[in-house]
Amino acid sequence: MNGIKASPASRKDIQIYARYVKKKVGLENVLYFPILQFVENVVPLFYPKFQFEVVPISEMKEHGLTYPSSKIMKIREDVYYGAVKGDGRDRYTIAHETGHLFLHDNDSIALCRLGNSNDMMLYENPEWQADVFGGEMLASTYLIRGMCIADVHNKCGVSWAAARTQLKYT
Ligand SMILES: [Zn+2]
Repeated sequence: MNGIKASPASRKDIQIYARYVKKKVGLENVLYFPILQFVENVVPLFYPKFQFEVVPISEMKEHGLTYPSSKIMKIREDVYYGAVKGDGRDRYTIAHETGHLFLHDNDSIALCRLGNSNDMMLYENPEWQADVFGGEMLASTYLIRGMCIADVHNKCGVSWAAARTQLKYT
């Protein structure tokens, strides 16, 4: 299955945009980004028709699904409760879905169900873009400069892998 293309956005573009969103809600300098509270309480201020659904495991294979045009986000219940407990991977899933919501506007097909297309530029790949946005929301490169992986993992509430990736781009 071919993936769909998004408008091109570089890592730098997405970093700047994520920082803008964080600044707009007064969380620009907060190391531990409260992604769940953000999605449940703040996103509706950006998008009044936003719907957030927690879906039973039996009804959903994916960890998360987002329909950016209709502003619907579905998160599987185990992922939701993992994020409540502060699990880094689950927090990242929600941050990734938030990226689709803010960056993408074509939901003829739900994102995250798509296979990778080889002939797509990385900058046009909506999954790559959502990953960059999610990483930047949780472990902002401008805040973690000079920190070690363990500190980023602990202070930002992200997995070790995500901490390592974010530090690469500071
Ligand atoms: Zn996705």
